[in-house]
Amino acid sequence: MSSDTALLDALRARLDVLSQQHLIRQRWQVASPCGPQLTVGGRQLAAFCSNDYLGLAGDQRIAQALAEGASRYGAGSGASHLISGHSRAHALLEEALADFMSPHIEHCRALYLSGGYMASLAVITALADKATEIFSEELNHASLIDGARLSRAKISVYPHHDLNSLEKLLSSSTAQSKLVITDSVFSMDGDIAPLPELLALCERYRAWLIVDDAHGFGVMGEHGRGALEHFVMRSPQIVLIGTLSKAAGVAGAFVAAHETVIEWLVQRARPYIYSTASPPALAHALLASLTIIASDEGRQRRQTLVARIAQWQQNVKLSRWQSLHSSTAIQPVIIGDNEETMAIGQALRDLGFWVGSVRPPTVPQGTSRLRVTLSAAHTEAQLDALMSAIADIER
Ligand code: PMP
Repeated sequence: MSSDTALLDALRARLDVLSQQHLIRQRWQVASPCGPQLTVGGRQLAAFCSNDYLGLAGDQRIAQALAEGASRYGAGSGASHLISGHSRAHALLEEALADFMSPHIEHCRALYLSGGYMASLAVITALADKATEIFSEELNHASLIDGARLSRAKISVYPHHDLNSLEKLLSSSTAQSKLVITDSVFSMDGDIAPLPELLALCERYRAWLIVDDAHGFGVMGEHGRGALEHFVMRSPQIVLIGTLSKAAGVAGAFVAAHETVIEWLVQRARPYIYSTASPPALAHALLASLTIIASDEGRQRRQTLVARIAQWQQNVKLSRWQSLHSSTAIQPVIIGDNEETMAIGQALRDLGFWVGSVRPPTVPQGTSRLRVTLSAAHTEAQLDALMSAIADIER
C-alpha cells in the first residue's frame, strides 16, 4: 500500500471522529443576495444568521458603487500596497474612515486591510514580540487568539469580564510591553466588554488596548462609530479594529489608531505588507456604505435594529433552552448538546427559518447554541414568526 493512502486514511479517521461527535460542518449554497429572505436549495428561507446588521449587504446603491469602482479601477489591484497595489480608492476610504473615527482617537489615521481576521493578525504581530505579555479575554474571537499565538508573546488569558483577575495579571507582569486584547461585542454571546474599565487599567499599567469592534462598528453609537462612541471613549492608547463585512455590508476591515501606530503597521505588519491589496472597487463601494452608515438613513436603520432587539428581548419565552438576552443584535439560545442543536437547526429550516447552529470549538464544550442575529432589514412579523417557530419546536 502506498504511503499516500496512509496519509488519507489518517485524515479520514479524524473526520470520522468529528462525525461521531456531531461536529461535521456543512456549507449551504445561497443563490440570492444577502437579505432577510434567502434562496437556499431552491427554497425561500427567512434568514436570521448573517451579520448584515443594517441590511446593507444586498443594497443596490452599494452594488452599483462596486460596479462603478470595477469599471473605474478594474478587477484586481495587481500588487501589495507597498508596491503598486495602493489605489486612490483605498486612500480615499482610509481618509473617510479616519475622519469618521477621529472623535474617539487622537491624531486618528486609518488603515484598510482585506479582512478582519487579517487585521487582527497584523495589529497584534506588529505590536507584540517575545518581550511582550498579551492579556487576552477568555471569549475572544479566533483572529485575536491566532494573532497572539503568531506574535510569540507570552499569553495570559483572563476570565470573561473579570477585571480583578486582569488587574492582578497586569500588576504582576514584568514584560517590557503589554497588550490587552478584547472583542467589544462578543461574537457568540452578544454581550459587551467593559471598555472604559479596561482602558483605565491599560492607562494605569501602560498597556495598549486592542479592541475588535467587528460587531459594534456601524451598529453602536448614535452615528454608528461603534463601541467607542457607545461608551464615549477617546484615547491614543486604543487600537480599534473594525470589519467592513458585517454592518458595512461589503468586505475588508480597518484599523483606526494614532497616526504613529498606523505608520508602524505600514512599516512592520507582515499580513498587511506581504499580501496583495484587495480590489479597489471594494474600497469604492465602502465609501458609499460609509456615507449611508453616517447619514440619517443609517441612524434610522440603527433605530429599527434596536426595535427588533427589544422585540426579541420582551417576547422570547423559553423553558428548557436558555436565551442569553443580550442587548445587541446577537441573540444566542443555549441548547447544550451538539446533536440536539443540529436537529433544532434542521427543524427550523423545515419550517422555513435559517438560524446559525454553533458548536465547539467556536463555543465552549456543552454550550452549543442557536445564534440568532437580528438585522434592520427584518420586519416585526418575520421576527414574531421566528419566535413562534422556536417556541413550537421547544414544546
Ligand atoms: N472579529 C470578530 C469578532 C468576528 O466575528 C469576525 C468575523 N467572524 C472577525 C473578526 C473576522 O472578520 P472578517 O470576516 O472581516 O475576516
